Amino acid sequence: MYSCGPTVYWYQHIGNLRTYIFVDILKRVLLYNGYEVTHVMNITDVGHLTSDADTGEDKIELAAKREGKSAKEIAEYYTKVFMEDLKKLNILPPTIWCKASEHIKEQIELIKKIEEKGFTYRTSDGIYFDTSKLEDYGKLARLKKKGLLPGKRVPMKEKRNPTDFALWKFSEKPGIRQQEWESPWGIGYPGWHIECSAMSSKYLGEQFDIHTGGEDHIHIHHTNEIAQSEVAFGKKPWVRYWLHARFLTFKGEKISKSKGGLYTLSELEQMGFHPLAYRYFVLSAHYRKLLDFSIEKLKETQEAYLKIKSLIFEIATKEKSEKINKKYLKEFERFINDDLNTPKALQILWKLVRDKKAKGKLATIKEMDKVFGLNLIPETKIPEDVKRLVEKREILRNEKKFDEADKIREELKRMGYIIEDTREGPKIKKIE
Ligand code: AMP
Ligand code: ZN
Repeated sequence: MYSCGPTVYWYQHIGNLRTYIFVDILKRVLLYNGYEVTHVMNITDVGHLTSDADTGEDKIELAAKREGKSAKEIAEYYTKVFMEDLKKLNILPPTIWCKASEHIKEQIELIKKIEEKGFTYRTSDGIYFDTSKLEDYGKLARLKKKGLLPGKRVPMKEKRNPTDFALWKFSEKPGIRQQEWESPWGIGYPGWHIECSAMSSKYLGEQFDIHTGGEDHIHIHHTNEIAQSEVAFGKKPWVRYWLHARFLTFKGEKISKSKGGLYTLSELEQMGFHPLAYRYFVLSAHYRKLLDFSIEKLKETQEAYLKIKSLIFEIATKEKSEKINKKYLKEFERFINDDLNTPKALQILWKLVRDKKAKGKLATIKEMDKVFGLNLIPETKIPEDVKRLVEKREILRNEKKFDEADKIREELKRMGYIIEDTREGPKIKKIE
């Protein structure tokens, strides 16, 4: 599975993160069903221009100018923040991370292949793919004959067809850009689409199973990835299944990073939200439906999330059975295996939690959480004496006896446990 990753010139907003949560659910459902998943995600750190039609400036170079840093520093900083966000959201890391700037050789090789097959031409600013030579160009997006969306205008410059796209762009004046490379065609940098074809084929082969992204990628980015890959590798279909997440909107408008974006995960945290409450919010809608964000809705979601966690905590303190409740698990599986129907699967979780007669709740919830990734199961296997000290510390803190409470914290540390105070109450962790 290949997932288009972020362009690291700015923080990823919560809309971007919706797409990665969807990818994570897809991957977890595959793993749950016993599939082996090799997952590749790229980091776009060069070549993505401010307009998807190959005009404008390179987003990373622009950010470097804006922040007075090097392109490398910009990419490294925003990549780090992105990876931290994934972790906070319980998103499983891909098997392989790959950066566009570290795969220039592979991209040049791929362009050469396309050139040998006669699908390229040269203009004064780069090497372009001639989409008119491909009978089924635009099939993913079901584009009309000339490949254009109604009402959409595309700057043509020297392009032969509106849908033609850059494979390699020349540096206007070599030595000015921070990121540029020698190539058989001149000094420059790769176009945005070629990186995903080059890196996915390097790690997954010339034909593979699943490719993901946000819905905005369908018309241009993925359409062009398909065109160039099917020409270069001569295999159809290049990818067997395409899955796209619909957008997160805000008051009905599309949220985009280039327009300043909306909230980042850290901003939500600063407002008192738990990252997993946002994950829950995303799971409450089907990935192929628009989801409209508001702070009010997130507040309600966080309440629901904390509520279910406390109900599960209660179950954990009482329940002894380690057997799975097959009836509930089956219902859950039916929904997640029906095009990742997470909202319905969450309903099953609630039904189980509230069912007074159901047995084996905890073991079943544990199974479900392999897919939800919501940390629903309280940490168990904490020794009784440690639990008692934690409780004692809570009482002292409530009585505002902080010095004594701190002494207990120290004692716990000596016993090998750290305690963190969170909005959901104290959390205990074993020191590794
Ligand atoms: P970018 O960093 O701009 O390349 O975007 C990273 C990912 O986020 C891509 O897969 C986009 O399709 C996706 N994306 C962008 N905006 C949104 C949004 N508002 N809702 C959901 N996904 C989005
Ligand atoms: Zn891509």
